[in-house]
Amino acid sequence: MSVFSAPDYDDHEVVEFVRDTDSGLSAIIAIHSTARGPALGGCRMFPYASEADAIADVLRLSRGMSYKAAMADVALGGGKSIIMGDAATQKTEAMLLAMGRAIDQLQGRYITGEDIGTRPADMAVIRRETRSVSCLEEEHGGYGDPAILTALGVFQSIRAGCQAAFETSDIAGMSVAVQGVGNVGQHLCRMLAEAGASLFVCDPVQDHLRAISDLNPTVVALDDIYAAEAQVFTPCAIGGTLNDDTIPLLKGRVVAGAANNQLYRAHHADALAEREIIYLPDYVANGGGLISCEAEWFGTDKNAIKPRVLKIFDTCLDVIEFAKEKNTNTGSAADQLAVQKILAAKQANKTKQA
Ligand code: NAD
Repeated sequence: MSVFSAPDYDDHEVVEFVRDTDSGLSAIIAIHSTARGPALGGCRMFPYASEADAIADVLRLSRGMSYKAAMADVALGGGKSIIMGDAATQKTEAMLLAMGRAIDQLQGRYITGEDIGTRPADMAVIRRETRSVSCLEEEHGGYGDPAILTALGVFQSIRAGCQAAFETSDIAGMSVAVQGVGNVGQHLCRMLAEAGASLFVCDPVQDHLRAISDLNPTVVALDDIYAAEAQVFTPCAIGGTLNDDTIPLLKGRVVAGAANNQLYRAHHADALAEREIIYLPDYVANGGGLISCEAEWFGTDKNAIKPRVLKIFDTCLDVIEFAKEKNTNTGSAADQLAVQKILAAKQANKTKQA
């Protein structure tokens, strides 16, 4: 098992292996880049099948956070941490406190938050050992659930996609297929309905569908959402749903949503482009919540967050334009733009130090 030659190692600044025998904690903290600011990324707890899987995941997620922060234009770098274990049966307070101490030793270079397998209450425990926690609930001194701002950013990405595909960012009268109406999906459906769009939705949880029944969406079976007669497909559930089987089914010209890692493989951005579908990369579209977390971390004005999230519209248009210029797909275009921004910050830091 190697770290330096792992596909997503990409010159990570720090990869720290943490073992606390008293609590049974086995964890990895990865800092991809602090060129733009302290590295922020959630703490995931997952029963990885192997150490190699855990290393691959933390490196991939950590680099992804650098790209997301760069495209959201926040003064943050990218990092991530993982705890190896089953969150439902193996998580203990002692383990979380040990994780907090390990994070604290990084002296603010890495800031954690909740992720799959960790909850706001876990962050409150970690916070007892370190200040380096963000995206906290209001009762714990944070700016609260960022899902509504994530939804607003996705809404902007849909408008940008429609601008590129249909030469109008006005979505009144259009129909949007929303896959997954959880936290982000429900906020988004309300924004879309208010803007005059009609909705196709699916979700395995009936209560989540009921929560938006006042919007009169057309509810379809999970597998039928791809072929819904909608101009826009919006994945807001799980990763990997855009693949060889589903892309041929899409009826619309725009894909933009909140779900992380929507493409099963990177080359599926090409498959979408070949079908002349405008794809807005997930980490560009879903950066609204990160803008809120950054404001919380630096203690800046809450009222300044929304105008910054609205700018995701322009960022999406920049990505589409850059993809055209470089004759590449939008996924690769966003990656290239993110890398440029990180390298520019690195260069500026060197110049300051000289
Ligand atoms: P959530 O868990 O509240 O909602 C996900 C919804 O998807 C749930 O209602 C679930 O029942 C549904 N779902 C699960 N499998 C499905 C399937 N096969 N088909 C249709 N629906 C299915 O999560 P969320 O906070 O709304 O986040 C949605 C996505 O956006 C996730 O991928 C998340 O990682 C990503 N994201 C969220 C945020 C945020 O601020 N919450 C920020 C960035 C990215």
